[in-house]
Amino acid sequence: MNFDFSYVDIAFVNGKVITVDKNDSIAEAVGVKGNKICFVGTTEDLMKIVDEKTKVIDLKGRTLMPGINDSHYHPILNGMISSELDSAMIDTGLTRVKNIPQLLAVLKEVVDTKKPGQWVSSMGYEATKLEEQRYPTLAELDAIAPNNPVQAMTANGHNSIYNSKALEYLKVYGPEDAKKYPEGEVVVVNGKLTGEVRGHTHFWLWGQVEYTEPQQRKAAFKSQKQCLENGITSVGDMGECDAPSYHIMQKLCKSGEFKIRSYMALHSIFGKPYSLEDNEHWMKLGFVTGLGDEHFRVGPCKFMIDGGSGGPTCWTREPYSHDPNAPSEHGWEREETIAYIKEVDAHECQCTSHAMGDQAIEHMVEGYEAAFAECKTDAEREAFKARRHRIEHCMLVDQDLIDRMAKMNICPSVNAGLQVRNGKNLARFYGPKREEYLGAVKSMLEAGVVASCHSDAPSGPVGFEMIDGMVNRYDRRANYQCSKAQAVTVLQAIRLCTLNAAYQSYEENIKGSVEVGKLADLIVCDRDVLAIDTNDLHKVKIDYTMIDGKIEYTRA
Ligand SMILES: [Zn+2]
Repeated sequence: MNFDFSYVDIAFVNGKVITVDKNDSIAEAVGVKGNKICFVGTTEDLMKIVDEKTKVIDLKGRTLMPGINDSHYHPILNGMISSELDSAMIDTGLTRVKNIPQLLAVLKEVVDTKKPGQWVSSMGYEATKLEEQRYPTLAELDAIAPNNPVQAMTANGHNSIYNSKALEYLKVYGPEDAKKYPEGEVVVVNGKLTGEVRGHTHFWLWGQVEYTEPQQRKAAFKSQKQCLENGITSVGDMGECDAPSYHIMQKLCKSGEFKIRSYMALHSIFGKPYSLEDNEHWMKLGFVTGLGDEHFRVGPCKFMIDGGSGGPTCWTREPYSHDPNAPSEHGWEREETIAYIKEVDAHECQCTSHAMGDQAIEHMVEGYEAAFAECKTDAEREAFKARRHRIEHCMLVDQDLIDRMAKMNICPSVNAGLQVRNGKNLARFYGPKREEYLGAVKSMLEAGVVASCHSDAPSGPVGFEMIDGMVNRYDRRANYQCSKAQAVTVLQAIRLCTLNAAYQSYEENIKGSVEVGKLADLIVCDRDVLAIDTNDLHKVKIDYTMIDGKIEYTRA
């Protein structure tokens, strides 16, 4: 590549540079010119080409590495959750809410600010972690909100308790009305409604909550702050509040107000009919995945097969270990999954689905195999592989599924850092044998599968907390050591959330590693992350976050 070496805008010197190049080289110094990396090498060589206009930053041995590309994140949804009374969704996470009376008090405070009929939306608690180890009841929610629909959504977002005013949107007034919906989605226990709604019916009801543009813009900026503080320079935006959110995110990226590079899936958090309609429009018009520029691109056509790993509600082949009778959530059956994958592939778009449990993942793999089998020539097979079809989360697998993915270049985006927050529960839900292949990024890398790692924020850990999860597999909330069968090295963990994530959006040639000619998306850590005890990874702070050659964040 031809670069004008007459000056360097910014020179990072005396550091430990994790380049993530093909040899995992470690360098000392990096030069940035404009929005690109123009030099990688030794401090001595870089100092030869700096001039009086160059800003020189002495890293003093700290780590410089590519910005984190969090391949599955929800910028708007994540930022909507807040303790502020006027926020789109009220935070009911464990730091605010430890028991049912606290949960009700938090919701009541918001209800009191609303006009009758206005929604109160909230998210964050987990029934198993509340002191009472249960959900709020329908009667409890009705008592604090007789005139407002209330959504008391759990942390994983796959189920929620609603009050009677909210159930009216479903025309559910008594237990008999639950029969209008797929079995188990409007929950009835001992002949009574509990207020719990699961799966697609829950997502449809969620779609009735109105979130305003100012609320969504504010949310995106809140997530931007979280990204910058945690060294995240790119995100895969894997679903928001349908078309209004797509519109808002495009405007924010175009105006440059949202600086984090975004790869936005066509997927609505409100569920199947919304996402299908979005995908159909896109494919019918002949658009393909990747349209856009390095700030904003349209990502895969996404759908959602099963539930969450917490809860748990994901679709497993064998029953859960902690409760063999606990139901799982299946939104898409096998045949329709296979047919839909073929349709997306035929439109030459990237396909992906939320698939958490091994049964859901198997259906994805079978769908890809069916589409791959229709390729008649080597050129068609190569084109299929080049689409880099994905699977979101891909948590519960086995070696056979991994090997089949490898043959077709299926690229899972895995929340492999999740154990740091919920590992003890996950071990209980799936038992020791399945835990060996939970978030199996080590086996995926060994099989040649280009996996990435993600936070799924607001659901999981971000930045170095996520890297800590991948390396240590230690539940820091429950003080519990999970199986380390799938633990990866620090360098592997960094590769998963930088270059491999860039590969999944077809951008490995422009970002994801520290190499000359690539976009200057760089982060500086507060220490040498390769020299520290790996148990201290969760303590790593980000000193600088640079995007597009500009330092957008400096730690105070
Ligand atoms: Zn997600």
